[in-house]
Amino acid sequence: MIYTGGTIGMVRNPETGSLEAFTAENLAANIPEMKYCGAEVEMVSFGDPIDSSDMNPQHWGRIVKIISDNYDSYDGFVILHGTDTMAFTASALSFMLENIGKPVILTGSQLPVEIIRSDAKENLLTAIEIAAAKDADGHPVVPEVCIYFHDELMRGNRSSKISASNLAAFASNNYPVLAHSGTDITYHKEFIRPYDPSKTFTPHYNMDPSIIILSLFPGLQRDAVEAAMKSDAIGGVIFRTFGSGNAPRNGWLVNCLAEAVKNGKTIVNISQCATGSVEMERYETGRQLLEAGIVSGHDSTVEAALAKLMFLRGEGYSQAEIQRLMNTSIAGEVTV
Ligand code: ASP
Repeated sequence: MIYTGGTIGMVRNPETGSLEAFTAENLAANIPEMKYCGAEVEMVSFGDPIDSSDMNPQHWGRIVKIISDNYDSYDGFVILHGTDTMAFTASALSFMLENIGKPVILTGSQLPVEIIRSDAKENLLTAIEIAAAKDADGHPVVPEVCIYFHDELMRGNRSSKISASNLAAFASNNYPVLAHSGTDITYHKEFIRPYDPSKTFTPHYNMDPSIIILSLFPGLQRDAVEAAMKSDAIGGVIFRTFGSGNAPRNGWLVNCLAEAVKNGKTIVNISQCATGSVEMERYETGRQLLEAGIVSGHDSTVEAALAKLMFLRGEGYSQAEIQRLMNTSIAGEVTV
């Protein structure tokens, strides 16, 4: 179990009243049931547990290193993480942990563990159970990066945080959940990536952070877009469009994006809608983007598209290869 921080391990500072990250010991003290969960659990903690708003690609690298260093010694990994950016971390890890053959289950909670109605205990104990689960042949039941939260196991790179207050804080809008937990945990095996021992687990550490997310809205200003598209600090853009991948036909926008693509930037079209997929051929307002060299993000979450582009650029793929790989599912992140 890798403890990174977040509400799940936070306690209230009696002087300020705000939640502050506490220690791994605090967690163990608050969930004594861990002793009886049927799995042997060892915990490593970030020396400086963080609110997940502070999470960054270096932290992802730290998690990858811990998993890679301990890969052979454990059946599975549970990552305790703040909910705010959990879907970004889960998405990033799904690419950085190439061919992972063991469960990596991220979880957290909406309420601190010390609160009587807290969801921390159930989320944590069930995540451990899932991380330890083996099938009849002794293979891990869920050999992939997932988020477990409020009775549902979701593929990490298909998940998004959808509520700041509901205990059901995450959704997998474009892919079925991998398991439900009730009185038993019911795995939906047909949706889980199959265990393939012939593939070698390969950790990756290079994520290129020179990406921005540009979200369309009526009235978006030309100067702002042109400044961003001309900037050398930006190598890739996650472009959040309307509906099935549509943008205004004002002329300047598509020209500006086409120019950016010519200059080596990768622009990925993601819908602002929570469900459904980009289909740039459907309307003229989408087709113009296709013709400008913009790549479809299909039914990807914004978190997964961002992490995938960081990963592919970080690994040094050419613009043409990135374009091809964006149209390929490499970790179950898109339906193509
Ligand atoms: N702000 C917290 C975090 O993301 C919220 C949480 O853990 O739920 O770290």
